[in-house]
Amino acid sequence: VTQEATQNQTKQAWEKDKAHIIHPYANFEKFAEEGSVIYAEGHQHWIYDADGNRYLDGIAGLWCVNAGHGREDIAATMAEQAKKMAYYNTFEDASSIPASELAAELARLSPGSLNHVFFGTGGSMANDTAIKMAHYYFNLKGMPKKKKVISRDLAYHGSTFLAHTLTGIASTQIGFDLVKDLVHYVSAPYTYRRPEGMDEAQFCDFLIQELEEKIIALNPEEVACFIAEPILGAGGVLVPPKGYHKRSWELCKKYDILYISDEVVTAFGRLGHMVTSKDMFEVEPDMLVMAKGISSGYIPLGATMVSDEIYEVISQPKKANPYFSHGFTYSGHALACAVGLKNIQILEEEGFCQHVQQWGPYFEQQLKTLEDLPIVGDIRGSHYMLCIENVANKATKEGFGDEVAIAKRIYHHAKNRGLIIRPIGPLNVLSPPLTYDKAAIDETVDILRS
Ligand code: PLP
Repeated sequence: VTQEATQNQTKQAWEKDKAHIIHPYANFEKFAEEGSVIYAEGHQHWIYDADGNRYLDGIAGLWCVNAGHGREDIAATMAEQAKKMAYYNTFEDASSIPASELAAELARLSPGSLNHVFFGTGGSMANDTAIKMAHYYFNLKGMPKKKKVISRDLAYHGSTFLAHTLTGIASTQIGFDLVKDLVHYVSAPYTYRRPEGMDEAQFCDFLIQELEEKIIALNPEEVACFIAEPILGAGGVLVPPKGYHKRSWELCKKYDILYISDEVVTAFGRLGHMVTSKDMFEVEPDMLVMAKGISSGYIPLGATMVSDEIYEVISQPKKANPYFSHGFTYSGHALACAVGLKNIQILEEEGFCQHVQQWGPYFEQQLKTLEDLPIVGDIRGSHYMLCIENVANKATKEGFGDEVAIAKRIYHHAKNRGLIIRPIGPLNVLSPPLTYDKAAIDETVDILRS
């Protein structure tokens, strides 16, 4: 009876979902035929659908469940904080102990003078805040012409009106009217598909020269900021050539342009560091954006870290409008911040960065054994952020024509064998919980080979 009741509940959920939910990135045609998969439970790096089928969660939900699913300690922290005070606003002079403690922890983890945080509920919102903050800063500095933003082809920065415009994945913009003339794009550091005849060092020179030319063409006095993911995620897990970020950052300093590092995916252990900008890429950004792993996905949370210098300018007393008129109901949400704090404590005390540093190279190496397969064009990424690019012709790197179809087929075959990976265009992406161990890595690679 219990099993029957559960099956009925699942069926009802499936029907209600089909009737009422507009899914992010829905393929409506396919959805009309198949509906959705209802997931019900998770433990470490395993996830169970409502029928009880178990899968290796090769994507940590959506690059976010870093500490793993089903943690009782995080659940206990949530319950405790919810009973005490789930929420109070943080507008003007109000605050809470979790919000203030998390702010101090984020300042401790962030490089340079990124000592100030503006809280939100996710990555898109945190990127919107960064761009608004950049404009506000230059307005106060008496440089109101500095407004343009430079982003990159294939960048993913989110889905709000502004963050979607920052996103350089052209196919996602079809059908939407985004903010025109504000964001300008330079080439993605797509090493695998770099212009023929260039080695990596030359490709780096090419990208840096292109960025400088773009700045000059736009007029440096009109460029406010440059935004970059350390490793592009949804755009194809693109690892830039060595020195690229440092040199981009130096260009930004040369032309008085703010450097915004979008660490929504890369922070909190995925690459073996709590924050990567400085430790891995030698950049001290003016702003740093965090979300996802900040709470291991247990609750929506995002943060925009801001340097002392920016803070000093935006916090000057002003006659015209004494308020920094930007804020969300859930900025500094007490329960969310308590989860963030607990999550950081877990990641540090349980040595997740060390674990990823130890097993990341093994994961990369094992995945690369698939390079002998006829459709595998490139395997790239770093540590627990990896990807396979499928091609029809390895020599010419030519695709299949219907790029989405091939990655989706691989996704379905892997899922039938108990592994969830993420198909994006011609790519299959892996970004598992950081609990992934040798057994999980081996099983993942075995399934992918089969
Ligand atoms: N920035 C990066 C690098 C991301 O990968 C994402 C989401 O995948 C975002 C921003 C947007 O975050 P959210 O979906 O939480 O708004």
